[in-house]
Amino acid sequence: MARRVVTLPGDGIGPEIMAPTLDVLGRLGDFEFEAHPFGGAAIDAHGTALTDETLAACRAADAVLLGAVGGPRWDTTDPAAPRPEQGLLGLRKGLGLFANLRPVRPLPALYDASPLRRERIEGTDLLVVRELTGGIYFGQRAREDGRAYDTCDYSVGEIERIARVGFRSARSRVTSVDKANVLETSRLWRETVGRVHGDEFPQVQLEHLLVDNAAMQLIAAPRHFDVILTENLFGDILSDEAAMLTGSIGLLPSASLGDEGTPGVFEPVHGSAPDIAGTGRANPLAMLLSAALMLRHGFGMQDEAAALESAVDRALESGLRTADLGGDATTEQAMRAVLEHL
Ligand code: NAD
Repeated sequence: MARRVVTLPGDGIGPEIMAPTLDVLGRLGDFEFEAHPFGGAAIDAHGTALTDETLAACRAADAVLLGAVGGPRWDTTDPAAPRPEQGLLGLRKGLGLFANLRPVRPLPALYDASPLRRERIEGTDLLVVRELTGGIYFGQRAREDGRAYDTCDYSVGEIERIARVGFRSARSRVTSVDKANVLETSRLWRETVGRVHGDEFPQVQLEHLLVDNAAMQLIAAPRHFDVILTENLFGDILSDEAAMLTGSIGLLPSASLGDEGTPGVFEPVHGSAPDIAGTGRANPLAMLLSAALMLRHGFGMQDEAAALESAVDRALESGLRTADLGGDATTEQAMRAVLEHL
């Protein structure tokens, strides 16, 4: 039976990288694609970034593939005006996506694009697992009498479920990152992660690292890490830091997952790149690698996912470079290069 994938191409380069990705997916399996306007495109058509109909379609799908949203056309300081990013938040909330996965695997062909020396990043292959729906971004906040506060709040249940995602994704080791020397939520985090480890995943190695040290180790010894498991705010910062190791934002995929049975959302880390939209020069590789994550984490299609990832690797090895990587290959040439190696 065909797997049902809702596609949300979004804005800017989103539709330009989505279309060829669906062609590639069509060669790897039996999929039914259903496109919906999302972000700025949905604001133009329906006055809101995420319509009820689109959310219902996502809920009923087997997976959601997302391009990118946003652009100067919808930038506004009017708090009452709809904004494209509201679509992203609405989707996360509506699908209960509490785990964000970002693999960081600098490709040998691009070691020299990294801001770090080759010998530092060689062999790096890590996954940041970030809690997405709790912590300080969702706690109580207020401003009163010349002060402001944001509350960081985590329950045992919220920590347990993200810890399980982290341990399940690990090959050998989970590095749990917190600030347990200062924060009470971090002490609960450390205790809970330790218990889930002992009870359910004793075969995986577990280490705890304070977030300030983790930020240093990511630069000093990135190869050390397998899975970095962390809460929302720390994960937001560390995943961008880790992303820089690859040297190009055009190459980074991500997955957001909820409870078993809910569809995951798979999307590139980059935005809608309005500065190059319409020029045919967008790098489609992060979108393709997001499709590979969908195959692996959404559908358990390990072989197909690996085939797509290795086709991307080999295309780069054989010299493919889009503008963001210092070359002049177009989106279309990039897709053809990947297809040749698939
Ligand atoms: P951006 O990621 O869109 O672009 C940053 C720079 O990287 C730009 O110079 C762009 O040309 C380049 N770039 C990004 N992706 C590329 C690709 N695939 N190929 C080649 N070059 C690429 O970030 P920004 O400029 O800060 O944001 C632009 C818009 O995207 C904003 O409206 C922002 O809110 C939105 N945004 C959306 C998401 C998302 O949809 N998840 C994420 C980040 C930003």
